[in-house]
Amino acid sequence: MDYADFDHQKLVEWLKAHGEKEFHAKQILSWIYQKGVLSWDKMSNLSQTLREKLTKHIRLPVLELVRYTESIDQETIKFLWRLRDGNLVESVLILSGIRRTVCVSSQVGCPAKCAFCASGQQGFFRNLRPTEIIEQILQINAWLSSKGEKVSHVVYMGMGEPLKNYESVVASIRVLSHPDFCNISQRRITVSTVGVVEGIKRLSKEGLKVNLVLSLHAPNQHIRKKIIPYARKYPLDEILESMDEYAQKTKRDITFEYTLLAGINDHPDHAHELAHLLKGKQCTVNLIPYNPIPGLRLKRPEKKAIKQFRSVLYGSHIVNTCRYTKGDDIGAACGQLALQEREGQTGLPMLKEVAFGS
Ligand code: SAH
Repeated sequence: MDYADFDHQKLVEWLKAHGEKEFHAKQILSWIYQKGVLSWDKMSNLSQTLREKLTKHIRLPVLELVRYTESIDQETIKFLWRLRDGNLVESVLILSGIRRTVCVSSQVGCPAKCAFCASGQQGFFRNLRPTEIIEQILQINAWLSSKGEKVSHVVYMGMGEPLKNYESVVASIRVLSHPDFCNISQRRITVSTVGVVEGIKRLSKEGLKVNLVLSLHAPNQHIRKKIIPYARKYPLDEILESMDEYAQKTKRDITFEYTLLAGINDHPDHAHELAHLLKGKQCTVNLIPYNPIPGLRLKRPEKKAIKQFRSVLYGSHIVNTCRYTKGDDIGAACGQLALQEREGQTGLPMLKEVAFGS
């Protein structure tokens, strides 16, 4: 059996059936979900016999740390995990002021296969189970605990399309935000989608207060179709309509992500068109200059082009931010570590690398 199969009630039943007191259920859940302790041996307020019974019957953990890499400025830390079936996924911890944001993966690989993204390059393997998502946070919490810190924000922007693994993603949000479990406010949880219309509509009826981000990347359906294969299935007007519905139902503002690709979507005309498309919406546009992925023939726009693009948006009163990533940064390009590991390459250039055995 797996620890993921146990909620409080089931744990109480298991304890009773094994001749143990039911109050241990609360202690166990607190060790796992609040302290990120994923080893029965380290649960010091449980008796030796109980720990032995737990070790024998309930498996912990589901992720094994293969290695992590730190950006030179030490603000971005990538973790590469091996799942029990041998598959690999990544998480990114972003340190920004007092924020400790974890970018989680929701799938192994990605079915969306956007032209500029490393995650889809390796294909799509499978959905992650809720625990495999939650444990990314638990393990990073344990890692941060030596500094007295905790994960404060979660973004579903790692490998995979979260709304194509809908049930697991929603289940993981419920555990991450539950006061008895990880207690991360839903307002600090963000789901990013390529635009899966049925998923956006369903999410707006969940009664959750999470932020929803659309990976827009183009000012019109024509350009969008060129860089996002899913755009053929989900037309832009339908996506925007469902995003509006989400904003109305949840009273949350909308954010649009826009990866800037030189010569493809970065012309001032594109900025004008984008401003027109988003006119009247309570929204923010998050511009992300393309992070080069080895083997792809795409280019990051020059600083001047980015500045020009932003000034058009400002001129049209479109609130926008720009995530500049330095040349040596590991930035938003999640999926690269797993891709390299899969292909038997080791190490990312220019990064401090720490090996963890296996
Ligand atoms: N499938 C989801 C979540 C994963 S991608 C989605 O499409 O939103 C999350 C974000 O990573 C995307 O919005 C995209 O802007 C960004 N991204 C992926 N690869 C990138 C790259 N090479 N350079 C810059 N941003 C990238």
